[in-house]
Amino acid sequence: MILMKDVYKTYPNGVTALSGINVDIKQGEFVYIVGPSGAGKSTFIKLMYREEKPSSGTILINDMNLEELKNRQIPLLRRQIGVVFQDFKLLPRLTVYENIAYALEVIEEPPSNIRQRVMDVLEEVGLKNKARSTPNELSGGEQQRISIARAIVNRPKIVIADEPTGNLDPETSWEIMKTFEDINAKGTTLIMATHSKEIVNTMKKRVIAIESGNIARDEDQGEYGYEI
Ligand code: ADP
Ligand code: ADP
Repeated sequence: MILMKDVYKTYPNGVTALSGINVDIKQGEFVYIVGPSGAGKSTFIKLMYREEKPSSGTILINDMNLEELKNRQIPLLRRQIGVVFQDFKLLPRLTVYENIAYALEVIEEPPSNIRQRVMDVLEEVGLKNKARSTPNELSGGEQQRISIARAIVNRPKIVIADEPTGNLDPETSWEIMKTFEDINAKGTTLIMATHSKEIVNTMKKRVIAIESGNIARDEDQGEYGYEI
């Protein structure tokens, strides 16, 4: 469950990115975040995994009140949230296997479990045969699949994706969306910021539109609603 109540965010330079966000996302929902560039979508997403802190307001993630979250508890939050980025953010000098294993090492998973969990998740995204490759040996779509594998390897309740298909061609984008649907079908909450009109209008889900730091629309089975 994700709850935001009267959330404001002003950056140190004085730019107000969010002004009075109220939202309630239930476990297992699939939600698109849409809106013009600069509207506040990334800020909204960054607040959820504590990449940024709100200036005021309340954020609850699975009953953790982020206001009360101590720095040492941030790993506890991050265990519950997997994040996927437009530019993949894989570590270029590590193999695919090591990139995913690293995500488990940082949350102090017992080493004896790591190998099995990495190979299971590679199997799930259909790239077990790429375990020994480095990211630069993979296509964009394969790299994004690896970053999805990394995001889900600790079985988070929530997966957040910030324009995950932004660097991919349409066919590859649909494959990635299929993977997200599979993850969501297993009960994981899926939150995805996107500029893809085609995806939003084809794969109908809840749509939250952010404009100038406010929620302009929040509709089940919504439309993209912008020309680009
Ligand atoms: P979107 O993801 O919808 O493009 P953002 O959340 O990235 O929107 O940005 C919202 C507003 O906040 C923009 O005006 C942007 O320039 C500003 N902004 C984003 N990040 C920062 C930052 N780290 N410091 C200052 N201003 C920022
Ligand atoms: P299979 O059941 O197909 O033999 P494995 O679990 O043995 O699957 O491994 C599949 C691939 O992942 C192989 O190429 C293997 O060498 C590679 N792999 C497994 N563990 C590691 C590791 N620790 N570092 C790098 N590659 C690994």
